Amino acid sequence: MPIIEIPKDLVPENSFLDQIPKAPIGRYVHLVVIRETESFSVFQTDGTLNIVKVSAGLQTNNPIIRLAMFKRKQSSPERLTGRELLRQAKVTQNENSKAANYCDYNEQFCTTCPDCVYYGFAIGDSGSEKSKVYVDTAYAITGYDESHQQFSFNALYEKGNMSQHGEVRSSFGEQDHILPQVFFPSVVTIKDVTVNSFAYVLNNVLRTKRYGAQTTRTGRIANHIIGAVFADGEIFSNLKFTQAIHDALGDDKNETPLNPAKVVQTAQAAVPQLLQDDGVNYHLLDGENLLKLLGIIQSTTTDKDKLHLFLQEANTETQEYSVRVIQKASNK
Ligand SMILES: [Zn+2]
Repeated sequence: MPIIEIPKDLVPENSFLDQIPKAPIGRYVHLVVIRETESFSVFQTDGTLNIVKVSAGLQTNNPIIRLAMFKRKQSSPERLTGRELLRQAKVTQNENSKAANYCDYNEQFCTTCPDCVYYGFAIGDSGSEKSKVYVDTAYAITGYDESHQQFSFNALYEKGNMSQHGEVRSSFGEQDHILPQVFFPSVVTIKDVTVNSFAYVLNNVLRTKRYGAQTTRTGRIANHIIGAVFADGEIFSNLKFTQAIHDALGDDKNETPLNPAKVVQTAQAAVPQLLQDDGVNYHLLDGENLLKLLGIIQSTTTDKDKLHLFLQEANTETQEYSVRVIQKASNK
């Protein structure tokens, strides 16, 4: 008996595959997420916040500049969360590089653990595995001007004081920060999904609370999961989702900051219409049923023993896949 069982009447038949297929067969679950900053965050490359000029809404075509949260800024912290748990459950280890279950992110991928198999890896010429988890750049609902603030900071001496040997330090820096309560609608897609890969990715999204570059990982983010879409193809983009919410907020979008409950409600209401335009076969799980599904997963992932058992089960699944598909390919 698998540790996580999803009741048959909760999701459509055949929503989850029994094993990870060798070739993609178009079975998707899309987690519809609203990412909300809960402190001053920094998503940047080369010292400046990532921004882009796009249309404000789908109906309102005036351009605005939006903050962007690139793909890896979302997926890397979530991967690291999962990898931490894998080590805790002794599925992988990071101490002895000769051990069979040694796995080091971006250094020495083991090619068999749930992180390597679900999220993919590339090891130079010696092999790669495509990710089964897709994340795309996310955009802030509000414009850049009302979503950021610049701070200057003084560089303190070691003891935390401003002067040393009678000299006051004059060097200071400036850094743009994203304000709290800025919202980034984002879809996390799991392809060729099994119950295990779904629960593994979902757990990472729910648990990850800090995002941003390694050195500036100060940004707290709350992930509100507002829907799970079971589909036979890809659904709407993050940009379209953001623009639809922008339109639907009406005058409420001029509030600073935006009201979190209103954003979540508006996003929930926007999803069915967007799905209708996607031209795929889909089943949307939201409201009560979504809570039920999240509750089932969390009753396992918030219990330490059950969580470890689950991670070991997921590892059995990914190991089997690795032998059947990855190692076969590299032995050719
Ligand atoms: Zn691994």
